[in-house]
Amino acid sequence: MINIKENEKLSIMNHSCAHLLAQAVKHLYPHAMFWVGPVIEEGFYYDIDLGNDVIKEEDLEKIEREMKKISKDGKRIVRHELTKEEALEMFLQDPYKIDLIERMDENDTVISCYTQGDFTDLCRGPHVDTVKELRHFKLLKVSGAYWKGDAKNKMLQRIYGVCFETEEDLQEHLAALEDAKERDHRKIGKDLGIFMFDELVGKGLPMWLPNGFIVRRALVDYITDKEVNLGYQHVMTPSLGNVDLYKTSGHWDHYKEDMFPSMDLDDESYVLRPMNCPHHMVMFRNELHSYRDLPIRIAEIANDFRYEASGAVCGIERTRAFTQNDSHIFCRPDQIKSEFKGVIDLILDVYKDFGFKDYRFRLSLRDKNNAEKYFGNDELWEKSEQELREVLKETGADFYEAEGAFYGPKLDVQVKSAIGHDVTLSTIQLDYQLPERFELSYINENNEKVRPVVIHRAILGSLDRFIAFLLEETKGVLPLWLAPTQVNIIPVNNEYHLEYAKEIMLVLKNYKVRVELDDREEKLGYKMRESQTKKIPYTLILGQKELDNGEISYRLHGGDETTTISKEEFITMIKEQVKEKN
Ligand code: ZN
Repeated sequence: MINIKENEKLSIMNHSCAHLLAQAVKHLYPHAMFWVGPVIEEGFYYDIDLGNDVIKEEDLEKIEREMKKISKDGKRIVRHELTKEEALEMFLQDPYKIDLIERMDENDTVISCYTQGDFTDLCRGPHVDTVKELRHFKLLKVSGAYWKGDAKNKMLQRIYGVCFETEEDLQEHLAALEDAKERDHRKIGKDLGIFMFDELVGKGLPMWLPNGFIVRRALVDYITDKEVNLGYQHVMTPSLGNVDLYKTSGHWDHYKEDMFPSMDLDDESYVLRPMNCPHHMVMFRNELHSYRDLPIRIAEIANDFRYEASGAVCGIERTRAFTQNDSHIFCRPDQIKSEFKGVIDLILDVYKDFGFKDYRFRLSLRDKNNAEKYFGNDELWEKSEQELREVLKETGADFYEAEGAFYGPKLDVQVKSAIGHDVTLSTIQLDYQLPERFELSYINENNEKVRPVVIHRAILGSLDRFIAFLLEETKGVLPLWLAPTQVNIIPVNNEYHLEYAKEIMLVLKNYKVRVELDDREEKLGYKMRESQTKKIPYTLILGQKELDNGEISYRLHGGDETTTISKEEFITMIKEQVKEKN
């Protein structure tokens, strides 16, 4: 979606359109007073004091009509410059503009205002030449906004809108907005019963509802199975840690602002962990290791906690409590290349299962000219950077290089989301520092104690963010293997076909298919529509013909064709599809 603020031409247009909006509001509500009307990424808004009047969504059309009328009149937009004294005089009746003018420095600011027909507004500009140019706009929504963003101040009304050069551009943008709204994981998550929030529990703390838990468990099983096959060992460590643990790891010095504050008991302090690395370091240190034992791959599906400002918290995409699909690989320097390759292969394998195609690898290397900006010795950096580059080339992955890695070379996978956001899903990070800080060691071939290298890696990353991403990609139509309900059975007539429906349900349940039976006394059409709204992949319709022939008739989500096959065929098909992750 286009960023209006970054586009110079559209930015001027949208700001001019904010004036047009104010003029129209002034015509319809003569007592209206105006605070500020800036351009934002999505278009523009204007904050308005309407006294006791309230503008509702349905009033926006009326305001738009007035704007169109003014635009047709085609008045020129004229700039005047004035002194501070003149400006104060001119806006004498308007406490909001007076507030703005009073804060302007008369010596280094040119105070200007713009007039179009019967309306003048204090403004720095620039603007388009005539209101005639403002024809293709739309008012999007209205909400409350405290004056100067301070809850102690009066609540103003904020009207949002957007303006384009052509009607096609505007329509295209509105369609994209509509699509983004439909894809918003917060809405889908609520509609499908995936997760919920409650202020009483706390901001940014998601609670996973039964349907959401099914999706999470399916993902956890999926990734855990893959990891077990690749020689990862799963562990579980506590969500709390002693502050000393984070002092040792360095997080206390560098990451404290993003952590919840410490809880002090007797003579100890504990914190909720923001990540799992320190626990895993200590776990590795617990045993003596020989070079023959390496690599050791410790994995955990772990709960982590980070302090996100309340404005930054967003659905399950950014939360204060989340679950990571995390792992730390402890290896010898000569194993870096093969371990790195193993992780990249796993990432590619997982992305293939999910059908992700639009992604790029970003390899972050040290800033060679700034030795104080990275940790560890150059020889090791040089060697591993070269190896990582080779691995990437071998896999044929699309990658680009960047500078600025600090603890070791790092690889991020950037995925383009359906609404155009760049999302980092997976990361691999080599780390020379934590092994030092925790004094990790293994015994090499010469019977010497030496440091291992640590590789941090996250594949699905935060499960919460991953599910947000999936919901937005699929508009909530999850693939069969992840769908909370995979099959919905509707008997045509409860009196005659319910027994058969129950029989089919039991058979499917035996094969671990997640199945529901809709035996409510509702019309068939109604139940089928609801099955669509709940985004269930398979809807079975079982009537007399199906009962007589031992068959099943089904509809796929989004389709309007009914297919009839034998129940055995159906079971084989659905088992196969779950297995193949179709
Ligand atoms: Zn880590």
